[in-house]
This record gives sequence, structure tokens and C-alpha cells, in this order.
Amino acid sequence: MTYAKRFDGRKFDEIRPMEAKVGIIKRATGSAMFKMGNTIAIAAVYGPRDVFPSFLQNPSRGLLRCHYDMMSFSVTERKRPGPTRRSNEISRVTESALFPVVDLSKFGNTGFDIYVNILQADAGTRTAGINAAALALADAGAPMKDLVCSVAVGKVGDKICVDLTKEEEDYKDGATDLPIAVLPRSGKITLLQMDGNMTQKEIKEALEMGKKAVQSIKKLQVKALKDKYKGAGK
Ligand code: UDP
Repeated sequence: MTYAKRFDGRKFDEIRPMEAKVGIIKRATGSAMFKMGNTIAIAAVYGPRDVFPSFLQNPSRGLLRCHYDMMSFSVTERKRPGPTRRSNEISRVTESALFPVVDLSKFGNTGFDIYVNILQADAGTRTAGINAAALALADAGAPMKDLVCSVAVGKVGDKICVDLTKEEEDYKDGATDLPIAVLPRSGKITLLQMDGNMTQKEIKEALEMGKKAVQSIKKLQVKALKDKYKGAGK
């Protein structure tokens, strides 16, 4: 069956309303909030700091560790506190999405810990988390060669869409979710997962849509960083 009109009235290539704020957790080295529609992620970065357990220390390179979790109240059916297979997977893919932009060569034996928490979940939590984490790392002063911008693309019924909601992910005639993370300057992809089925042509079309969307995410991230540092040093 055709998915003629999106549940929330957006165009198929339109992302949800977004908000970003940097410096929300004062005691962290860096922090940020990223909101995509009803999905709200916060990220706090601590570091560079000593790595424990110490056998993980690497004298020639710093460590980047991500800890993703969802608040119990972030979903309509209470999520049990504590790590799950899903949260461990998202922590690992978040690390590998961010890793290529951070120069860790001068941080031997130390590391950056990135804590991502989801306050409200309506699909796309890993993507909002990556957007928040990239901002928090920049706010922490980690040397970065680019930002990391993330969004989910996919297919709802017969339509290629960007930034799916949970209602769309649960579409009765089937949906495919394909979260990506992109380095906005080079266009390199650092996260690509897929849950569902799409043809090669559809994947190409979805990636094109996603690459356009990440440019608006980048603009918002840059604005959030400028808003915090505007006037700093005066
Ligand atoms: N979700 C939920 N309970 C859970 C995990 C996920 O209700 O324990 C919902 C939540 O809205 C989440 C969505 O399912 O955003 C999709 O989860 P998925 O694992 O696909 O990751 P995400 O799209 O959040 O990155």
C-alpha cells in the first residue's frame, strides 16, 4: 500500500524540527543537547583523564569510550535501568562513528569518556545521540578535524523518507530504518546500519536524501557552538 502522506505532515525529505544547545552540564568538560522532533539526547564528555582499568591504557594513543543509555521514562513502556545488548551495540557504533574525527595521538594513557543519555525517545535516538556527542566533544576542546552529523533514512511503505518517527518505524505495511553518520566536510560515512529491506537503488536514493539532511544538522551544530562561545574572551 502507498504511504501517501507522512503521519506528521512532513515532506518525505524533511527532517523533524531540531534544536541544539552546548554547555548544558556545567561540571562536565563538554556537553550538549540535541533534539530531533520528540527525540531528545544529552551528552557529557569528561577528559582527557586517566583511563581505568589501567590495562586499557595505551601510551601511544588516547581512548574514546561511549556509554549510551535511555532514561526509564524516555519511552512509553518503562525501560528497565541498566545496560542491554541494544545499549551496548549503540555505544560501540557511536564510538566508531566519532572515532575518525578525533585526533587522539597526543593523549597517550588517557581518554575521553562520552556519556549519552536519552531523555525522550521517538526513534532516531542513536542519531540524536551522535549529534549531541560530537557537539560535546567539540565543547570539551577535543582536537577534531570535522563534526559528525547523523540522521536516519529509510523506507516507510513504498516511500523513501528521512528522519523516521517511531510511528513510521512501526508502519503496518513495513518500514526500513537506515541510520547514517556523515562527516559533513568530506562526505565520508562513519555509521551505516540497516534494519529492514531496501533495493540497491533505494539505498542510493536514501543516502542522497540523508547526505542533504546532514548539511542542515551541521549548520545547527555550528550555530549551537557559536552561540556558546560568542563573546568568550571579551
Ligand atoms: N524503543 C523503545 N523501548 C526500548 C528501545 C527502543 O520503546 O527499550 C523505541 C524508541 O522510541 C527508539 C525506537 O524504539 O527510539 C527505535 O529503536 P532502535 O533500536 O531502532 O534505535 P534508534 O532508532 O532509537 O536509534
